[in-house]
Amino acid sequence: MSNFAVGSLSAAAGTKTFGENVFDVAGQPYRLPMWVINGAADGPTLVVTAGVHAAEYASIAAALDLGRSLDANHLRGRVIVVPVMSLVSFTARSIYVNPLDGKNLNRVFPGDPHGTASQQIAHWVFENAIARADCYVDLHGGDLIEALVPFTIFFRSGNERVDAASLDLARTFGLEFIVSSETPGATFSAASKRGIPSIIAEAGGQGIWTREDVGQLATGIQRVLRHLKMIDGVASAQLPTTVLERFLWLRSEHDGFWYPAVSVGAVVRKGDDLGQVMDYEGRVLQRAISPSDGRVLFIVTSLAINNADPLLAVGC
Ligand SMILES: [Zn+2]
Repeated sequence: MSNFAVGSLSAAAGTKTFGENVFDVAGQPYRLPMWVINGAADGPTLVVTAGVHAAEYASIAAALDLGRSLDANHLRGRVIVVPVMSLVSFTARSIYVNPLDGKNLNRVFPGDPHGTASQQIAHWVFENAIARADCYVDLHGGDLIEALVPFTIFFRSGNERVDAASLDLARTFGLEFIVSSETPGATFSAASKRGIPSIIAEAGGQGIWTREDVGQLATGIQRVLRHLKMIDGVASAQLPTTVLERFLWLRSEHDGFWYPAVSVGAVVRKGDDLGQVMDYEGRVLQRAISPSDGRVLFIVTSLAINNADPLLAVGC
């Protein structure tokens, strides 16, 4: 068994290393904390990231639990855990975007070494970690102003082998709802295009990270590790899941005040009134009308709403 290295961090077989990889982003040193975990026996490589959106705390807490607890001596294969990809966003408690350039890090993958800060970060993580995975799980949740029902997302890349493996990964992870999404520049879609079975798993939101939310993500990772035979234990039977083929986002067309009319998780019918964007005096600027029968998977809970902000999404 050989050494396993990611950037400047390496781990001998049967050991794990925690540290920071430091590289240049927009002319400044950028610190990326991670665990490099090298199993005592051979097996696949799993990459787990969180903190792409760095105020989605249940996901970060679950990644920290994984890095702290995984025992390299009882691991077959290798695990890279990046618990907070955007440390600058974490420190700033920034919603949606990276303060270094105002971009959504989950829209710029696989990145560009000559691009803006977010593109450079994405490029480093993609080439040094994600591209080496046999399986990739990116942990998310509702942001500070979002509530959601737990769900996983996968991408239909057109490569049947990869897409079937991504769907299998989502079913193994075990959250009730699985959504097919085409989000350009997202971690999981860029990885799927590179031929790596990948999912995003989402739980928690509104800045709250309950034991239950963290536990759903932590349990999902353990289920994946057992399924890949990377840790001992009988692979758990797959839980009942519902696959939704479309992920329809409604966005605000105004600056104003957002009054949702439904709760997250609600079953809705096409044409239902899901909420209104109002002005100061209560005039309705926009009605959010359900584009389809389906399920409300996430909802923005902030009264303040800006033009082009998401309002909610319906999976169907
Ligand atoms: Zn997110």
